[in-house]
Formats: sequence, C-alpha cells, structure tokens
Amino acid sequence: MRKIYIAGNWKMNKTFQEADDFLFNLGEYLENRNMGNVIPLICPAFPYLELVSDMAEEMTLSSGAQNVSEHKSGAYTGEISAEMLSSMGVDYCIVGHSERRHIYGETNEVVNAKIKRLQEHFLKPILCIGEKLEEREAGKTEEVVLSQLQNSLKDIKIEDNLVLAYEPVWAIGTGKTATPAQAQEVHKLIRDWLIENYGKEIAENTSILYGGSVKPGNLHKLLSEADIDGGLIGGAALDDKSFIEMLDIALEMK
Ligand code: PEP
Repeated sequence: MRKIYIAGNWKMNKTFQEADDFLFNLGEYLENRNMGNVIPLICPAFPYLELVSDMAEEMTLSSGAQNVSEHKSGAYTGEISAEMLSSMGVDYCIVGHSERRHIYGETNEVVNAKIKRLQEHFLKPILCIGEKLEEREAGKTEEVVLSQLQNSLKDIKIEDNLVLAYEPVWAIGTGKTATPAQAQEVHKLIRDWLIENYGKEIAENTSILYGGSVKPGNLHKLLSEADIDGGLIGGAALDDKSFIEMLDIALEMK
C-alpha cells in the first residue's frame, strides 16, 4: 500500500514563534493518534528544521528540508549539505521545486547531483517536476515532464527512497488547481514511466504527490484519483487548522 503524504512546504514564511505555535498545535493533534499510512510532513525554513526533527522523534511526523547543496562540503557560503541534514535527523528534502528551477536557475543536472548527495546520506528526495503554462498550452506537458524525469534521475537507483511531486507551475500559489482529471493524466504518465524504467514493484510503491493550490476544499477530489498519493502544499499548509483538516481528509480516505 502506497504512503499518502500531506506535506507542507512553508517556503520562506513564519517567524520562529509562529513556527513553534503551529507545531505545538500539530503536536496536540498527532499525539497518540494512529496515522495509518498517512505521512504528515513539514518542510520549514532551515532555522526551524530542528524543531520539526525533534518533534518527529516523539510522534508520527516527518521532517523535510526545502533545499540542499549539490556539493558535499567545503567553501560554499550559505549552503547546507546533505550530511548536515542527515546529522540533524531530517528525513526528506524537496529538490527541483519550480521556484528553485525558475528563480534560481536550477537545472536538471543540478537537481540530479542534489539527489545523489541526498541518497549518499539516506535522505529521501521529493523530486518536483511540472510544466509551465506556455508549455501546457503548446501541448508540451508530456515532453517536459518526461525530460525532467529522465534528466533529474539519470544514473539514479530508486527503491523505496524517492517521492515524486507533480506540480504544474501555473497552479503553484496562483489559486488555479489542475482538475483532478488533468492531474491524474500526468500522474499516470509518471507511473508508466516509472514502470518502464524501474519496474512494476518500484513504480507501484512510489508515492506521487500533486502540488498546486491544494487546500482542504479540493483535496478530497484529488486524492480520489488512482495515482495521486497526497499533496505537496504551500499556502494552505501555513495555517495549522487547515493543515490538520487536510490530515483528517487523508485519514478518512486512505
Ligand atoms: C508548493 O509550494 O509546492 C505549492 C504547490 O504551493 P501552493 O500550494 O501554494 O500552490
């Protein structure tokens, strides 16, 4: 049975106090609760990662970083290595988020190196892929998504150590969600690519999250699709009540 993720990507939001308050309320909800195959995951800004990873030792919660360096260690001012994340007990790391690709010019080659660094330290990458609006309108969604998969995962072995997130760029932070059918079509394409490249068992066990304006009001329909295994959620994961509501929805459904 595939794991269902409710993954909050806080991006560059929250003061320390706001992060602490959110986690306190989430902790009250999670304490002694059986989450089944639902994985609550919080990806805060780096300074708050320890808050999350400490809490994750006590309850069913996972911690994730939003970025990692493609280098192992050394003179890279401002960068954070996979080894550092691993030494703090962090579980996951987002790579290839569209904001990293489009604002910071991260290429598939850099994403590929980051995945390798993470795997060297047994951290699970959450690899984001997705097309821009003009690419969708030009009928290039399939081409873009497959090329991102091929190049980001070049020479990379996966077993149960990779999570994928389909995030159409035009749906991120815009309030426009892909319809469940539009999302499912691409998720199926990704699943078929996994079958072809890694075999049926790995493909069946790999969670593929959808990201792009997910909120409590649309999560149920998205999770009803066969190949959507949770959400990578920005805006709606900043509020504790909304995040907890999404955990409840996932728990009821899967
Ligand atoms: C994201 O941060 O990956 C994201 C999908 O953001 P939002 O939910 O705000 O669209």
